[in-house]
Amino acid sequence: MVEYVDTLVVGAGQAGIAMSEHLSRNSISHLVLEKHRVAEAWRSRRWDSLVANGPAWHDRFPNLHFTTCGADAFPPKEQVADYLNAYAQKIEAPIRTGIEVTSLKRNEERSGFTVETSDGVIEANSVIAATGAFQHAVIPPLVPESAGVTQMHSSTYRNPNDLPEGAVLVVGAGSSGGQIADELQRSGRKTYLCVGPHDRPPRAYRGRDYCWWLGVLGLWDIPAKEPGTEHVTISVSGAQGGKTVDFRRLAHDGMTLLGRASGFADGKLMIDSDLCENISAGDANYIDMLDQADAYADKMGLDLPMEPEARTMLPDPECMTNPIRELDLEAAGITTIIWATGFRQDFSWMQVDAFDETGAPVHQRGVSNEPGIYFLGLPWQSRRGSTFIWGVWHDAAYVADQIAIQKNYREYVPEAPAAAAE
Ligand SMILES: Cc1cc2nc3c(=O)[nH]c(=O)nc-3n(C[C@H](O)[C@H](O)[C@H](O)COP(=O)(O)OP(=O)(O)OC[C@H]3O[C@@H](n4cnc5c(N)ncnc54)[C@H](O)[C@@H]3O)c2cc1C
Repeated sequence: MVEYVDTLVVGAGQAGIAMSEHLSRNSISHLVLEKHRVAEAWRSRRWDSLVANGPAWHDRFPNLHFTTCGADAFPPKEQVADYLNAYAQKIEAPIRTGIEVTSLKRNEERSGFTVETSDGVIEANSVIAATGAFQHAVIPPLVPESAGVTQMHSSTYRNPNDLPEGAVLVVGAGSSGGQIADELQRSGRKTYLCVGPHDRPPRAYRGRDYCWWLGVLGLWDIPAKEPGTEHVTISVSGAQGGKTVDFRRLAHDGMTLLGRASGFADGKLMIDSDLCENISAGDANYIDMLDQADAYADKMGLDLPMEPEARTMLPDPECMTNPIRELDLEAAGITTIIWATGFRQDFSWMQVDAFDETGAPVHQRGVSNEPGIYFLGLPWQSRRGSTFIWGVWHDAAYVADQIAIQKNYREYVPEAPAAAAE
């Protein structure tokens, strides 16, 4: 039995749900397949205490507010999942859960695609991969199992109580690594944190959250500038009611900051000499944001409270003035390493000509070079905000419009000659 659908969406995270809404808006019949549950990533692939990085008024779709918390609050992860679930119900998204798409092939000598799933075969004219940018945990092969420490990725970390006794090394100081290291330190653990290049905007400045500043300054909308620049991680946190990530503050509170981990031998982790450079670049990014905000407020005559104290930096802590270049794990009492080193995508189920030699999708704002194939939720798909809840909604609108345009062409039938002559 083969089931026929016009358009198939694979994945029911925020991307798949947004896609469904915009396909419906264009009257395009479709089906969404999800291998687990709706918004699964927010339920089972995040640590217990995670809250959204943006406030509820911002990190949402335009047509539904969070009702479970105040507009300026940072909703806990379960509330984000519930919100997305409620949204899917509100728009009556045709989602089937518990069905994995295992392969996709272009049909031979006829249009469309054949899609194999764990629940049978589907044919579709168009397929949208909304399977997410954060599919597989990436752990650099630095520390061998024989090192005798527990190693895990940030996506499997849950809470401090789950870890063996002892100090913890967190590698990576993006939003995940920064928040996890902070939580561990607050729980009384001795914590080490490897800090790579990062941006760290102020959580709030002059009474406005950074999400607001990035919005009015047009910074959510910037396209990737040049290859490489798109991967600088943003270190922000909604934890503790939302505080600016300040690595100097964490160090003054007892955390040991390190440069990037670059090797391992004889029980010792080799550390790059880039800690001060990375902290300084993060500070410069922070100050630049304040400058841009002040310039915008002046230009627009905004009556916002001044906040000169936001420019005060703590002095360099000991771990910056005397940086550690070799860390003996055993001597430091480290029993756990948490790799907050990001994720990779997985399109191995798509056997179509839509990828470059590195396996990355070849596309324009999600429209693949392979006719009928689309992507959603890719990092920098159209702009900096593309992987965020609010940003993916706007990318979905564009992709749905493109699918509708192509559908019109596909369905075009020339008038009969007699009618055309009239
Ligand atoms: C720790 C962390 C915190 C974040 N916090 C925020 C935040 O506060 N605000 C914000 O805006 N963004 C945040 N993000 C970024 C982003 O919003 C989330 O990662 C979000 O889950 C991405 O949504 P998505 O729909 O693109 O992908 P996912 O949520 O990963 O959804 C993809 C879905 O596809 C399914 N799937 C995959 N392969 C198949 C297959 N072959 N067949 C069927 N189904 C399949 C998966 O099961 C999954 O449910 C965060 C990301 C991380 C990692």
